[in-house]
Amino acid sequence: MKCRRCRGSAVVEVRRHNAAYCRGCFLHVTRAQVERAIRSWAMLRPSDRVLVAVSGGKDSLALWDILLDLGYRADGLYLGLGIGGYSERSAEVVRAFAASRSATLREVDLAEAYGFDVPTAGRRGSRSTCAVCGLSKRYVFNREALEGGYDVVATGHNLDDEAATLLGNTLRWQTDAIARQSPVLPAADGLVKKVKPLFRLSELETAAYAFLRGIDYVVEECPLVAGNTQLRYKQAMNAIEAGSPGTKAQFFLGYLQRGRPRFEGADRPELEPCARCGQPTTGRFCAFCRARAQILGERLEPRASGAGEDRQVAEELAEEVLPAELYGAGPRG
Ligand code: AMP
Ligand code: ZN
Repeated sequence: MKCRRCRGSAVVEVRRHNAAYCRGCFLHVTRAQVERAIRSWAMLRPSDRVLVAVSGGKDSLALWDILLDLGYRADGLYLGLGIGGYSERSAEVVRAFAASRSATLREVDLAEAYGFDVPTAGRRGSRSTCAVCGLSKRYVFNREALEGGYDVVATGHNLDDEAATLLGNTLRWQTDAIARQSPVLPAADGLVKKVKPLFRLSELETAAYAFLRGIDYVVEECPLVAGNTQLRYKQAMNAIEAGSPGTKAQFFLGYLQRGRPRFEGADRPELEPCARCGQPTTGRFCAFCRARAQILGERLEPRASGAGEDRQVAEELAEEVLPAELYGAGPRG
């Protein structure tokens, strides 16, 4: 097979584009897809300080690699989830990548910083392991970005991730979640801007990119993910894609163009600082603090500020029964 761009011999086939590319041209068109995503959704300004959430998987490492190559001021953030050898290997590849690129890596260990790890959360809390893991990631990414003075958080969500999430939201007609699903979530009081620059690239493309760039990444799936709903939606999408290449992209990219505008208009709820940690929330305490209190078997108390109002809140809460389902964002948010 010949490369579509240069007619040299091709090494990667992209079926949905009905095209094949040599190494150099594949890397070029992949970067161009990311640049196009960034430009058309106004994701990043050249002066922005970007915090890239890197898990050690192919997507987020490829993202960090591309953003550095494009000249962005991109630091990495690794969150240690405490999932045994899987988390240890993930930390190692992320550290090795950062060192190889002389890039800055921030690390947070969930157990050290917040007193619980993901396996414990799954056993003790009322939510699924994946739900509490997703909630913890969103919380820590936002908090670290705010505290570190970053303008934007970038994650490695790819086309397969976004199509599977949209499928899940659509199957249950979660119209608010459908309206919110976007490659860019703008900043709001206490919430840092979030972007997903890989949303135009399939999982096969990010894997080929990482491989061709010689990036060492953790291939194994999270061992706790087996049976996860998101995974089943991905498999269903792949089964359709196998028969009709391009369906996945039509589903998600078509939604962005033509579907999403029909769901907009849902009011964004008012956000208030969490009485415990100060992060933005719609309730008195944020979902993370409530989940954490439940996991640790603690009663939620407001920050010790000594204010009269705070004391009153604490008294009310002594009676509060923590709701079983704390956060309605779906299995993996
Ligand atoms: P996932 O929720 O595992 O599908 O991951 C989605 C995105 O979240 C990844 O592409 C990363 O950008 C980010 N991410 C996941 N796990 C971690 C982690 N342990 N530390 C930092 N970022 C992560
Ligand atoms: Zn909180």
